[in-house]
Amino acid sequence: MSDAERVLAGRVALVTGASRGIGRGIALALGAAGAAVACAARAVDHSEPTAAQIRAGGGTAHAFGLEVTRAEEIPATLRAVEAALGPIDVLVNNAGITFQRKTLELTDEEWERMLATNLTSMFRLARAVAPSMIARGGGRIINIGSMWGRVGVPQYAAYCVSKAGVDALTRCLAVEWARHGIRVNCVAPGYIRTDFQTEVMADERIRSLIHSKIPLRRLGEPAEVGALVVYLASPAAEFMTGQTIYLDGGQTSSW
Ligand code: NAP
Repeated sequence: MSDAERVLAGRVALVTGASRGIGRGIALALGAAGAAVACAARAVDHSEPTAAQIRAGGGTAHAFGLEVTRAEEIPATLRAVEAALGPIDVLVNNAGITFQRKTLELTDEEWERMLATNLTSMFRLARAVAPSMIARGGGRIINIGSMWGRVGVPQYAAYCVSKAGVDALTRCLAVEWARHGIRVNCVAPGYIRTDFQTEVMADERIRSLIHSKIPLRRLGEPAEVGALVVYLASPAAEFMTGQTIYLDGGQTSSW
């Protein structure tokens, strides 16, 4: 990659949920763009292969274990990232879960687990990295939402609400922290080819139904989410904050 393409050279990025799927795609893209990448997942041996792949490509990366629902793990992890790579310039809140449940059967525990993983963790991590970003004159926070944060999907109330919350959190942080030079944006993917979709895509009938709803007639790739995150983290996006960008093959624009 040429120097011009290494738009994030000298930057430090933390990506949660970087062991696989979209998070791995984002971490690899940030690493290729020159950022030093802190790859986090629930256990360090989950995220180490991603970090190793970035290093094998000539980049800089370290693996960390961070269970995002455990508030007490956040300060120690951030200190470890800073000690290994330096202060965090770019936070990518990506870790998330989903499950299908009829709302009449959705338990309090399941509702709370979804919100804790997909939304509260993003608030806590943003709140924890912001003071250092403010002290250094700015930073970038990119939250991974979902097109399902904008629509109603039967049997996915907890997931849809968590992702609508990510949207609102993005806007609130963006307007509150703009004066500190912190830009906050949200990438809301449609169907992306990851483990998230493996089960549902195994059924040929459902797979063709999903393809028929996507104007571009295919799933997105984690690398395509990574490319958008690199753009949002880069100086090219200096005037963009508080936005949710749908990366969904046109699905949410379709009738
Ligand atoms: P995935 O393949 O299932 O990967 C999930 C990642 O999140 C893994 O790295 C996992 O780490 C991590 N994670 C899950 N729970 C965690 C926790 N409590 N603490 C720390 N890390 C945790 O999922 P994906 O498809 O890449 O999805 C990533 C994000 O994109 C999610 O926020 C999801 O809602 C969003 N999204 C995905 C799609 C899609 O079509 N795939 C569409 C819209 C939005 P471990 O390895 O440690 O388990």
